[in-house]
Amino acid sequence: MKKLILILGDQLDVDSAALKDVNSKLDEVLMVESVAEAQHVWSHKARIALFLSAMRHFADHLQGLGFPLTYIRHSPKTIVEELGSKIIDGKFTHLVCVEPGEWRLKKSIEALALELNIVLEMKQDTHFYCTHEEFKEWVANKKELRLEYFYRLMRKTHRILIDQDGNPEGGQWNFDRDNRKPFPKKGPGLIPPPEMFEPDLITKTVLAEVEEYYPEHPGSLAHFQWPVTREQALQALNGFIEHRLASFGIYEDAMWTDTPFGWHSLLSSALNLKLLNPREVVNAVIVAWKKDNLEMATVEGFIRQILGWREFVRGMYYLDMPQMALDNFYDHQNSLPAWYWTGKTKMKCMQEAIGQTLQYGYAHHIQRLMVTGNFALLAEILPKEACDWYLAIYVDAIEWVELPNTAGMALFASGGRFTSKPYIASGAYIKRMSNYCSSCQYKPDIRFGEGACPMTNLYWNFLIKHRKQFEASPRTRLMTANLSRISDSDQQAIQVHAKGLLGDLSSL
Ligand SMILES: Cc1cc2nc3c(=O)[nH]c(=O)nc-3n(C[C@H](O)[C@H](O)[C@H](O)COP(=O)(O)OP(=O)(O)OC[C@H]3O[C@@H](n4cnc5c(N)ncnc54)[C@H](O)[C@@H]3O)c2cc1C
Ligand code: SF4
Repeated sequence: MKKLILILGDQLDVDSAALKDVNSKLDEVLMVESVAEAQHVWSHKARIALFLSAMRHFADHLQGLGFPLTYIRHSPKTIVEELGSKIIDGKFTHLVCVEPGEWRLKKSIEALALELNIVLEMKQDTHFYCTHEEFKEWVANKKELRLEYFYRLMRKTHRILIDQDGNPEGGQWNFDRDNRKPFPKKGPGLIPPPEMFEPDLITKTVLAEVEEYYPEHPGSLAHFQWPVTREQALQALNGFIEHRLASFGIYEDAMWTDTPFGWHSLLSSALNLKLLNPREVVNAVIVAWKKDNLEMATVEGFIRQILGWREFVRGMYYLDMPQMALDNFYDHQNSLPAWYWTGKTKMKCMQEAIGQTLQYGYAHHIQRLMVTGNFALLAEILPKEACDWYLAIYVDAIEWVELPNTAGMALFASGGRFTSKPYIASGAYIKRMSNYCSSCQYKPDIRFGEGACPMTNLYWNFLIKHRKQFEASPRTRLMTANLSRISDSDQQAIQVHAKGLLGDLSSL
């Protein structure tokens, strides 16, 4: 038996099941930097740099531990092509890996193993609480697939925030209502900054290479300070818990100019690269809750993101691929305006969300869902184009987590498959949750004509267009009730204005 062990760029865990029982005299561990993968979508420079730097740090670590590693830099081939050549040249009998997060890659590796007639040992990814089998079991016979019920099951199964009698701590499962506050009128005040890491020599080399090899790619490297090692990821986790967790919940949905991170954790990239395990993140939050007597709303709110949403979207992705990537419930066909790649738009909310995305490769959840996502849905953008943008532009973007959030949640492309309603909002919501509108040339309260806010206009246009769908559900009926208060002539004017916008999105 001669094993080739593949470690992917988002599997940087030294305790990986694939790295057990390696015979350093016979076996070989393979890591590949693939230019083709980096260009699979038009990736932000920081996203490429994060992968490469974290991979190189991990490779150093593996070599230090004596693993028989082959590390291929800047390969023009895909990972699977490299893997194929290696298997043939090295006469390997077994291919060992952890299940890739990405469906496409998993299928390609399975096909390669069949083609080369090699034994494939694809290990389960232990960086999730819920296995595919458990998720399928939960799905069976469910009429509706909703996060809330899945999340409760996760809480009970793993006894997280459950009291001795089996009830939810704090007397309720979900404190979402307490977590929707805007920042105070005067602004967010002093927020302790997240942990940031000065580039070391490896990272500096990577940054220079990314500028050299991917000069045309979007985004800036000037602010690259993401954790690239497990030690840094742990430091980021501890810093968040010590300085920022307490106010995370209450201001989870709030937005403000020049406040790119708010009270958020910035842990998604470390979690997705497997520098952190979600269990240690959740456990650390529970320890802090007990030690510092933190508000239940913030603790529950944070844990729901990881134990609930993160697990739920991963389950849905594997359940619904490859169909999820093709879904287009509303049959939207508009192209993504070019300013999504530059931030050069007159809409202040989009300028802010896209601007910070280009600077850091980061925007928080509400900016992704209710600003850029909301606009893409209201502007009837072809889901594939919007999804490709999200996959390219965030440092934490990996398809298993990006696609269900984008196609499934933000764009309602999968219909009501796993969300109860389209997440749409007018400028009034953005005005309530941020200070963006006060410096915008559009006015959030104007629905059509001079100064009309595109979010507001397209929101009402969307409701008029899909009135029947919204009236049919008790969760959205209220939205159409508000529509009834708008006169017929104003509704016509909204539609005329919207037609103009939808025909010329690039001018916004
Ligand atoms: C359109 C859209 C696209 C998204 N694309 C991605 C993506 O490519 N990669 C990604 O990791 N997240 C994605 N998300 C989810 C979420 O926005 C990010 O996880 C979060 O903003 C990352 O910032 P943070 O670490 O500061 O998170 P926090 O707000 O501090 O949340 C804590 C952690 O919870 C997890 N989490 C929170 N919300 C979600 C969610 N909806 N789905 C899965 N995990 C969640 C993340 O691991 C995150 O680090 C997307 C959301 C939307 C609406
Ligand atoms: S007025 Fe409209 S376009 Fe301008 S920031 Fe507010 S919501 Fe965005």
